[in-house]
Amino acid sequence: MYYNEKSILYYDGDFLEATKATTDLYGQSLHYGYAVFEGIKSYKTEKGTKIFKAKEHYDRLKRSAELMMIPFDYTSEEMIEITYNLLEVNGLSDAYIRPLVICSPNMSLSKSQKSSLVIEVWNWNNGYLANNMRIMTSSFERPNPKAFRVEAKVSGHYVNSILACQEAKDKGFDEALLLDADGNVAESSGANVFFEKNSKLYTPPVGSILPGITRATVFEICDLLGISYEEKLFKPEEMRGADAGFFCGTAAEIVALESLDQVSFQMSWESSLSAQIQKAYRHIVLEEDYTYLKSQLQCAN
Ligand code: PMP
Repeated sequence: MYYNEKSILYYDGDFLEATKATTDLYGQSLHYGYAVFEGIKSYKTEKGTKIFKAKEHYDRLKRSAELMMIPFDYTSEEMIEITYNLLEVNGLSDAYIRPLVICSPNMSLSKSQKSSLVIEVWNWNNGYLANNMRIMTSSFERPNPKAFRVEAKVSGHYVNSILACQEAKDKGFDEALLLDADGNVAESSGANVFFEKNSKLYTPPVGSILPGITRATVFEICDLLGISYEEKLFKPEEMRGADAGFFCGTAAEIVALESLDQVSFQMSWESSLSAQIQKAYRHIVLEEDYTYLKSQLQCAN
């Protein structure tokens, strides 16, 4: 599903056949989750293949490595160029891009002396995920910011995401909503969260979340369309039964929530401001103009 005998990946300066690439089995990345990664998407636009917010993603990868004390010398510009070449050799436009920084063989609990960069790409043209997610408040909390560098995208953190996501699926929900150690809403297993109430959007501040690049794009859209928003701490009770809600992330894009803990959001998705943000986001990733949405919103008010 992710690769076949024709797929090519990037590994430390080489373009290799994915089926032939290997890794060492005696390393901290595999044993302890001591690795950093990114999730990036490219889109087929009228002007050709465009990697969305490539610099922001690669800057975050470098910052994640720095926070984890993993030596990593690539510049974002170098990685962007490699990625465009990799997409081309794989014949991909609408793609998911997964850079991964793994540590060289070493089983100790001290920092890595050397790292390797792997970039994998695969086809992704299935558009939106389900746009009516039924989510539940997870019994698993987000990793404690005093125990982890939660703002970094570290492989090991995702064990927590797997536990929360699987718990939700086992209970018949689509996804989990994780709280921080104080019971405030934090985020989903792999996306940030917003809710809408009385024509205003709310989202948790940084602290216990991965500060998403899509979340920052939502702020940009709000500024351009004149939609008000606030970063604040809130409990799930405040979000339950609000007007609308959505998850946002590179893979999910903007995906509508139907209910939280079986309490439905009140508005029809189409009449929410959140739906306008979803539309605008699609235009932005495809590099299309979305400012016309502003006049539509003004008419509606
Ligand atoms: N939170 C978590 C835990 C994630 O894994 C992701 C996906 N990278 C996000 C939020 C959203 O981040 P972004 O918008 O940068 O993809």
